[in-house]
Amino acid sequence: MNEAIIDLHTHSTCSDGSCTPRELIRLASAASAKAVALTDHDTVEGLEEARTACEECAVEFVSGIEISAEYSPGTMHILGYCIDERCESLAGELTLLREARENRNPRIAARLQELGIEIDYSEVAEKAGGAVVGRPHFASVMLEKGYIASIQEAFDRYLAKGSPAYVEKTRLAPDQAIRMIHSAGGVAVLAHPYQLKCDSEEELGRLLDDLAASGLDGIEAVYSRHSVQQRVRYAEMARTRGMLVSGGSDYHGTYKPDLNVVTGKGDLAVPYSLLEQIKDRAESLRC
Ligand code: AMP
Ligand code: ZN
Ligand code: FE
Ligand code: FE
Repeated sequence: MNEAIIDLHTHSTCSDGSCTPRELIRLASAASAKAVALTDHDTVEGLEEARTACEECAVEFVSGIEISAEYSPGTMHILGYCIDERCESLAGELTLLREARENRNPRIAARLQELGIEIDYSEVAEKAGGAVVGRPHFASVMLEKGYIASIQEAFDRYLAKGSPAYVEKTRLAPDQAIRMIHSAGGVAVLAHPYQLKCDSEEELGRLLDDLAASGLDGIEAVYSRHSVQQRVRYAEMARTRGMLVSGGSDYHGTYKPDLNVVTGKGDLAVPYSLLEQIKDRAESLRC
């Protein structure tokens, strides 16, 4: 029998996904996932519902989070797994990160208006429905109003880092993000390393050495948008540094319409054994 498959990177309506935590777990279960991590941006709000849904579907639940860290010129996201969502220091830091978003979001709306896109921030907040508001919500309102033909076009023309309506937000330094995850009992994993946009293998290697020195536990090598070669190379870079390998789809529902939960673009199959290593690491960090 083939090895069981899992998905350790998903988003729900608590951040910028379009499925509720329960809907998401049901879809993952229907796609034969043995375990799922919910990894919403800057919030643990959806974890309880996801945990209950996992019990209902006999899927193993992994509590998760995704944090954006300071980095240029690309993007650095750090995933936390097996976190204790009741941790008070975690809750305090997540509140600060959401406040940083609230400070940034009206400025994105103002930039868009300067560029002739007539959207009001209240429409974006309404679209998010009380969730953590992210750029995909802006893209979705722009799509509905006919300013662009796809979510991706909204990013390419307006919202992506370096584009005219991009606004920085206050982020944690990478070592702070790792520390925050560790202090909540979690395992810290570098998400989708291709988004770092490192120029060379050497540059990426040096960055990974620095992150390993800051306590990074693993690298998300098995990722929907990584080529087979990238998956192999990033896994090798993790293993040579004593780090573990993780994997997931980054499912966002309609906000990333080309990515399916569990199977990504159709070729993703994250083996259950990766989760066993993550759980072992979480256990050893607690000792
Ligand atoms: P935010 O949390 O507001 O910074 O938005 C981050 C989210 O926007 C990511 O998780 C992705 O879902 C999406 N995103 C960021 N950059 C891009 C891009 N260049 N193309 C498509 N989606 C993107
Ligand atoms: Zn997202
Ligand atoms: Fe991400
Ligand atoms: Fe993500």
